[in-house]
Amino acid sequence: MFTPGARQRRWWIRADVNFCAATFAAGKPSCAPPWSRPEPYFLEHCNGCGECIAACAHGLIARGSGGYPEIHFGHGACSFCGDCARRCPEGALVYASSRPPWDIRAGVTAQCLTHQGVECRVCGEQCEAGAIRFRFAPGGVAQPQVDPAVCNGCGACVAPCPVQAISIYHAREQGAGHANPVEEVVCT
Ligand code: SF4
Ligand code: SF4
Ligand code: SF4
Repeated sequence: MFTPGARQRRWWIRADVNFCAATFAAGKPSCAPPWSRPEPYFLEHCNGCGECIAACAHGLIARGSGGYPEIHFGHGACSFCGDCARRCPEGALVYASSRPPWDIRAGVTAQCLTHQGVECRVCGEQCEAGAIRFRFAPGGVAQPQVDPAVCNGCGACVAPCPVQAISIYHAREQGAGHANPVEEVVCT
């Protein structure tokens, strides 16, 4: 199972690790399953067979626009088990323990309850990676901040948020230092 380490985190920002497939959903970026090959290769080789969808015990993969598989974190978090990638018969997903599964990360939008002065730490309690820290802001309510160098994009923080304030974005598009994207909502 993939566990991000220091060396692997450097891979994390490589552009060819995963891709943002704007073609999948009418101009709205979406997230391909983990260990997807670079976009042109993926689009050429994925035939929409649905093997990866069936392989995910967490029900995270669904058929998206165009028939291609997409990740949705509404049902839970990715455990990085690799089952989806191992089962792809076309080589559109290729599991490799030495390679990070994707470049996606979580961010907190302005919809967060703490931005309204309401105490909440639900997302931080879900993050096993310890990527979410709470910092006090003027007014006295601590607000969550995601460290993109620690976040592995597992999505565990997405569904439990009571106000859908977690967005998922591709690091290479927002920049590795972009801890809190505000409008980029994909993969949820
Ligand atoms: S790596 Fe495992 S948990 Fe994650 S999407 Fe693939 S099958 Fe599902
Ligand atoms: S769970 Fe949602 S509302 Fe609560 S602190 Fe996290 S982002 Fe904000
Ligand atoms: S996606 Fe959310 S829960 Fe998973 S590592 Fe990133 S901040 Fe933590």
